[in-house]
Amino acid sequence: MKLPIYMDCHSTTQVDPRVLEGMLPYFTERFGNAASKSHSFGWKAEEAVEEAREEVARLIGATAREIVWTSGATESDNLAVKGVARFHAAKGRHLVTTAIEHKAVLDPMAALAREGFEVTVLPVSREGLVDPEAVRAAIRPDTVLVSVMHANNEVGTVLPVEEIGRITREKGVLFHTDAVQSLGRIPFDVEAASADLVSLSAHKMYGPKGVGALYVRRRPRARLLGQIDGGGHERGYRSGTLNVPGIVGFGRAAALAREEMPAEAPRILALRERLRRAILAGLDRVTVNGSLERRLPGNLNLSFAHVEGEALMIAMRDVAVSSGSACTSASLEPSYVLRAMGVSDELAHSSIRFGLGRFNTEEEVDHAARLVVEKATKLREMSPHTATSTQ
Ligand SMILES: *Cc1c(COP(=O)(O)O)cnc(C)c1O
Repeated sequence: MKLPIYMDCHSTTQVDPRVLEGMLPYFTERFGNAASKSHSFGWKAEEAVEEAREEVARLIGATAREIVWTSGATESDNLAVKGVARFHAAKGRHLVTTAIEHKAVLDPMAALAREGFEVTVLPVSREGLVDPEAVRAAIRPDTVLVSVMHANNEVGTVLPVEEIGRITREKGVLFHTDAVQSLGRIPFDVEAASADLVSLSAHKMYGPKGVGALYVRRRPRARLLGQIDGGGHERGYRSGTLNVPGIVGFGRAAALAREEMPAEAPRILALRERLRRAILAGLDRVTVNGSLERRLPGNLNLSFAHVEGEALMIAMRDVAVSSGSACTSASLEPSYVLRAMGVSDELAHSSIRFGLGRFNTEEEVDHAARLVVEKATKLREMSPHTATSTQ
């Protein structure tokens, strides 16, 4: 077993060696610009880009022409939220989202609110789930977009997008879902979810960083304004020379995900359960944050009462995990996701997120569990709270 062990797959994942192999020729002999129409260098690049478009589309039950390449899901989320709001501004200026969305959705929503749009932020349950009926109740005549993620990046909860999509379709409101965390981990289908716009990212599913996509429905057509102008690439939705090697890698990663998900998801779930059981057997006062039933197979988010998450993370430095969200770890604020679920600040500060993936083994899980139990026990012995604890 090699140290350190990586268990932070919601932040990013290793590029699968098979993905890298597929990408390499597109840095060197096949380096053409996919927009160059006058020579074979361009044609070869374009062919590879279109093949990748097919693969990514197939993974989500879409057609290739509905896939718009971006620099990652942050851009996809911005394009979906701002692009729809600005296109439909004359029709309505009301948007609906949830308290546990990624910042790549919440920050564009906040930017639009400063421009005069109105945003309804739906609460979540203690389990980290959203009630579809709350979505229905929030929709008004001037609502133009509902944005609800498929799976949460901190607690791994899987939100009821199919029920929500049925409601938005019935109400004639566009539905955007950030499916970054579910892509390649659990099935997602644009028809089943009645989704109009879907954000995707390669680096959370064993592809390279810096490449993503936005699914834009064609029937019935989802209309939105491009947010980056200059050249009219990607049917005007997103100008800029395409990241050909990155896109090739995304396509390869999507093909592998499609082939391997049926065997991989149960294997990762078994690892997650092995980790959860070993930690809970070795420690008391540990709580699981978020629903265990509606959850990504590789996610485990635990709170360790009377243990600082940051301290535990440092103590077990051979195992790479996150405390709270990696995206907010620059601040000392407790995770806004856990807070929205009603978790106390103290328990939010004591939380650790494990993200298991394709390359984790049982041996690694056993090592991590032993380390967590040992270090948390030691930290509790040192903690002034423990002696006075009533629980
Ligand atoms: C990582 C992540 C993003 C941002 O994706 P990038 O490709 O890194 O910009 C957006 N949404 C969710 C849910 C994520 O986990």
